[in-house]
Amino acid sequence: MLDREYIGNLHIHSTYSDGTSTIEEIAAAAGRAGIHFVGINDHFTLRGLKEGKEGWRDRVAVLVGCEINERYNHYLAYNIKDEIPNDTAEPQNVIDAVNREGGFGFIAHPYELGSPLHDGGAAFNWLRWDVNGYTGISIWNFSSIWKGNARNYPLGLYYYYNIGAADLDPLRDAMAKWDELLQTRKVVAIGTSDNHGMNVKALLGLIRGKIFDYEYACRAVNTHILLNGELPEDFQAAKQAIYDALRHGHCFVGNSLFENARGFRFYAEPKSGITEMGDDGSLADSPVLVVKSPARAHIRFIHSGRIVKEELSTSSSFKPDSPGPYRVELHLPRPRGKTRAWIYSNPIYLA
Ligand SMILES: [Zn+2]
Ligand SMILES: [Zn+2]
Repeated sequence: MLDREYIGNLHIHSTYSDGTSTIEEIAAAAGRAGIHFVGINDHFTLRGLKEGKEGWRDRVAVLVGCEINERYNHYLAYNIKDEIPNDTAEPQNVIDAVNREGGFGFIAHPYELGSPLHDGGAAFNWLRWDVNGYTGISIWNFSSIWKGNARNYPLGLYYYYNIGAADLDPLRDAMAKWDELLQTRKVVAIGTSDNHGMNVKALLGLIRGKIFDYEYACRAVNTHILLNGELPEDFQAAKQAIYDALRHGHCFVGNSLFENARGFRFYAEPKSGITEMGDDGSLADSPVLVVKSPARAHIRFIHSGRIVKEELSTSSSFKPDSPGPYRVELHLPRPRGKTRAWIYSNPIYLA
């Protein structure tokens, strides 16, 4: 049974590309936020790795990958030792090159809403859905979602100080694409920050500081991995354990800005033992899907993209009767019947 949970902030930019903090400062910020690992994905460079920044820093496991491609088709690569050339037009070449190095990767932001305040409103979408060989996709990229809210300076400022008023839910297009892909194969979902620690002073001259600073981002959209036993003290072993959990989809995505996602569990309980997120189970085993939530939420069971049960509670269960991927979403209740996206599981695949 996967009984330990570790929290990571993935897809972070440091001063090695267009971020505003060093890897040492980012690790310290992650430590203050109380998370366990960070994934550094600077554009087109592994300088962080080559200059020895990977390892334990402030009790945080610093993992250095990279973000590949320019105008479209951004790909997050992990566990590679050499830079992979951009191939924006043919991202399959990038995916294959990462795999040949023994690495793995994720589609960084399938869809975005561009902001006129950022890159002239450009949305850095993924365009080539005929690719294969990638591990998964980021269903919730905090920076992309934020850009969609900051449609002009007054709105950007307003939401910066009233984050609760912003619409931070994952994009419907990204969720629909994930459900569509899950009909054909396993696709691991991760959540990412894509944080750059953008300097507001440079932007406005009105307020000082970073929007959003790295510690803040490490308290927002994270990927929570589940391990069998504790994260090893040896760094290489810890890195292996984290990467294995991500590759297998032994993880879930949560936004802890409003309610901490730590403690969420989703598994199947067949007669023969537990089936975890990311794994395969058999309907012949009469499984029951079980959800435990750290707080009261709307718990939705989703089978092949369709809601099959919804309940407002701290726990729920569902008896599946047809094959396919089963995943759950938790939405926090808000006043006037509104909800706020909170937690997304990876699927359990039943045959
Ligand atoms: Zn990107
Ligand atoms: Zn990025």
